[in-house]
Amino acid sequence: MASRAPDAPLLTVPATTSGLVCAHHHLYAALARGMPAPRRAPSTFREILELVWWRLDAALDLEMIRWSAMLGALEALECGTTAIVDHHESPSAIDGSLSVIADACAEVGVRVVCAYGVTDRHGPEGARAGLAENERFLRAGGRGMVGVHAAFTCSDATLEAAAGLARDLGTGVHIHVAEGVDDADATKRLLHLSAGDWLLVHCVHLPSDAGMQGTIAHNPRSNMNNAVGYARPLRFPNRVVLGTDGIGADMLEEFRLAYARLREETPETAWQWLENGDALVPEARADTVTWSYESADPWRLAFTPGVRALDVSVDGDVVLRDGRATRVDADEIRRKAAEQSQRLFSRLSEV
Ligand SMILES: [Zn+2]
Repeated sequence: MASRAPDAPLLTVPATTSGLVCAHHHLYAALARGMPAPRRAPSTFREILELVWWRLDAALDLEMIRWSAMLGALEALECGTTAIVDHHESPSAIDGSLSVIADACAEVGVRVVCAYGVTDRHGPEGARAGLAENERFLRAGGRGMVGVHAAFTCSDATLEAAAGLARDLGTGVHIHVAEGVDDADATKRLLHLSAGDWLLVHCVHLPSDAGMQGTIAHNPRSNMNNAVGYARPLRFPNRVVLGTDGIGADMLEEFRLAYARLREETPETAWQWLENGDALVPEARADTVTWSYESADPWRLAFTPGVRALDVSVDGDVVLRDGRATRVDADEIRRKAAEQSQRLFSRLSEV
C-alpha cells in the first residue's frame, strides 16, 4: 500500500471511488487569484462580470491559457477529480484556444470536455469566431460541447447558430442560464432550442416550471460568492450535477457546500448530484481514486474535512501517486502559472 503523508487523517482501509467530475469549470480562472482589485467595488452581478471577468478574459493569450489549464488540471487531479467540463472564453485569443486547453489537460492526465463560450459582446465578428473555434475543435475530433456564454449576451441569430451546430455535431450546448437577474428571461430565448444533451449552468433565476431540457449544473460556492441567490435545484425535474464555476475543482468541498446549503431546506444529501457528473463523462466511472480516509459514505464525508486523494488512475494509468502527479512536475507548473499570472495582471493594469 502507498505510504501516506504525515498530515493525512488516521485510517484503516482507504476508500476507493471512481473519478469525480467537475461539471462546470473555467480553467482560465486559475490565474485570477490575487488579481488587482477592480477600479471600484462591483455592486451587482452584472458589474462583477464587467469589472472583473470580462476584463480578465480579454487580456488572456494562448500562453496564459496553457498554464492556467495546466494548473487547473493539476489541482483537479490532486483533489481526485479526473474529468472537467470546461467553459472557456478568451476574446483576444480565440482560434486554437480549445486545443491548448485539451493538450494541457492531456499532459497532466485529466479528462476534459471543452467548449468555447460564444457571445456577441464583441460584435457579430466575435460571435462568429467563437462558433468557428467550437466547430474547428469538434470536427477535428476534440471532446467537447458547443459553448455559449449566456442568452443575455447573445443575439437570437447567434443562439440559433450555436444550437444548430450542436445538433449537427451531436454534442449539446454548454451555457450559463439565469445566473443573475439580467438573464432571467433566458427561458423565452432558449426554450424552443434546448435539448436533452444541453448543460444548463446555474439556473438560479429559472422558473421551476420553465421546462428547459438538459442537465442542470449547480455551483453553490460561486452563487454564494456572487450573491446571485440559491438555485434550489431540487425544484427541477432535470438531472443535477455539481460544478465549481472556476473556483478550483475540489469536488468533495463543493459537495460539502452543496450539502450544507441544501440542508437549510431539506434533510437530504447532495451526494447524488456529485455522482451524476459521470453521466456527462461516462469514462470517469472506470477511473479510480484512493482517498486518505476509510469511508466514502456521504454522511461521513460531509463532516470530515481534509480528505485527500492519494492515488488516482485514469484510463488504467496511475497519474497521481501518494498525492503527487506522476506525469508532470507540479512545482514547475505552479512556478510557470505564477509567471503567467504576473503577465496577466500587468496587462490588466493597462486596460
Ligand atoms: Zn461559469
